[in-house]
Amino acid sequence: MEPIRPPQNIVIVGAGIAGISCALSISRELTPFVPDLKITVYERHDVLSTSGGAINLTPVAQRHLALLGVLAELDRMGPEGGADVDAIELFSMRSGRGIGAINFTDNQGKGFGGYKGRRVMRIALSVAMMTVAERTQNIEIVFGKKVVGGEEFADRAVVKFDDSTEAVGDLVIGCDGVHSAVRTQFVDVGRSAEYTGLSFLQATIDTDSLTSRPHFRTSSLNISRHGSMLASYCDRDNEQIFAAAIVQFSREALTRYRLQPGQDWGTQHRIRAALREEIRSRFRKCNIPCIKEMIESKADWMLYPVYQVPIGGRWCMNRVILLGDAAHAMPPRDESAAYALDDAILFSRILASYRSEPLAEVFDAYETLRRDTINHAFKESRRMWERNREMGLLEGRLKEWMMSFHIKSNEHARETAWAFDATKMALPTPAPSEDLVSLNSFLRDRTL
Ligand SMILES: Cc1cc2nc3c(=O)[nH]c(=O)nc-3n(C[C@H](O)[C@H](O)[C@H](O)COP(=O)(O)OP(=O)(O)OC[C@H]3O[C@@H](n4cnc5c(N)ncnc54)[C@H](O)[C@@H]3O)c2cc1C
Repeated sequence: MEPIRPPQNIVIVGAGIAGISCALSISRELTPFVPDLKITVYERHDVLSTSGGAINLTPVAQRHLALLGVLAELDRMGPEGGADVDAIELFSMRSGRGIGAINFTDNQGKGFGGYKGRRVMRIALSVAMMTVAERTQNIEIVFGKKVVGGEEFADRAVVKFDDSTEAVGDLVIGCDGVHSAVRTQFVDVGRSAEYTGLSFLQATIDTDSLTSRPHFRTSSLNISRHGSMLASYCDRDNEQIFAAAIVQFSREALTRYRLQPGQDWGTQHRIRAALREEIRSRFRKCNIPCIKEMIESKADWMLYPVYQVPIGGRWCMNRVILLGDAAHAMPPRDESAAYALDDAILFSRILASYRSEPLAEVFDAYETLRRDTINHAFKESRRMWERNREMGLLEGRLKEWMMSFHIKSNEHARETAWAFDATKMALPTPAPSEDLVSLNSFLRDRTL
């Protein structure tokens, strides 16, 4: 029997957090065994997208980005590389009072495993990831390639682009986000993302433009019965505040408020004014001066509807697998990017350890390791997101009172999640097969 060879030509769809971290991690794990490894990442945008505002990275996300060399690149960017977040402080918009904090430091003020949180603009994170990928010899990133479908054969998988060209790989990894074409056109046809009913309204505001002093140290979540308003510095010099309202928004309103390329000036102006009014009408009774100012400001709020991918669907075929949001987009908490990074690192480690096994076993081992964690995280995210829905007076008060209790009762689970290290997690052992050589190679690797 021909020995099974690990994939040598790998196609990744999507140059987001999952796609680039997957390319970096596979290169790191597999290159020692596959010297002529070739990883090509196909991204639908022509250039890096500048939209999306800022993202909070948890200690575990930072640890994994450090492993991939991305954190060092972010640090090299100086102030633009993001603001350290010691804690997300919670406040009641009604009373203006503090109601607790999610701490990213322990009792001695140290981060978990050496890492705190970090709020960074998405574009800065993308640039840092691209920079590391570009100097990695066996990774190539091709922009302007939108996948619209694919096909699988016994020895290869093919992805098809909207310009009628194709790319062929021994292994195809769909990292193309919540609306993944690899998922909906290929792996799990028809498993479309569904709107959660909640949206982000985001803006970036110059700190200098505010007359009242911000009430938070680095990051705050300000809650009300009409939703929450996140306000956080997103650069090391605290020159800019990233503000994001998390609010209930009807599906019908989404189309009315969507800013699109090619819209005339009048329409864009009308949408911007309407979004400002949405923010004002929901939070006008806020009792926190700096938030009140942001709400009344002329900031340009952008609408980001939040979608999720129903759990329980297929993640893989014979030569194609989904990672990151493409497989399991959930209502975002601070952990969502960390899940994409965990996926990338765990999958790459399994791919290298199971290099003499068929891909079906690689996929199987990965699913065995990931499914329960993801299903649990999905349910937890849904539960937390429900708290941002519109509430009556009494329910709103109850939410405030219960908040500090929730924060305290989840502290242990949060800190355990932040201590997670995908590089140390024990991998399942390949099942004994006729090819005992592969099992032996696996066991030898483990003991080295
Ligand atoms: C409003 C909002 C706020 C969030 N805030 C946070 C936060 O603070 N912290 C956190 O951890 N997480 C946050 N998340 C979640 C986090 O952004 C995602 O979990 C993470 O980006 C997932 O990474 P990904 O690479 O799987 O997908 P994406 O980041 O969506 O990347 C997918 C990539 O694939 C490309 N692509 C898509 N379709 C195709 C195609 N057909 N062909 C080729 N390329 C394609 C896209 O252009 C993109 O580059 C937030 C999400 C939202 C919506």
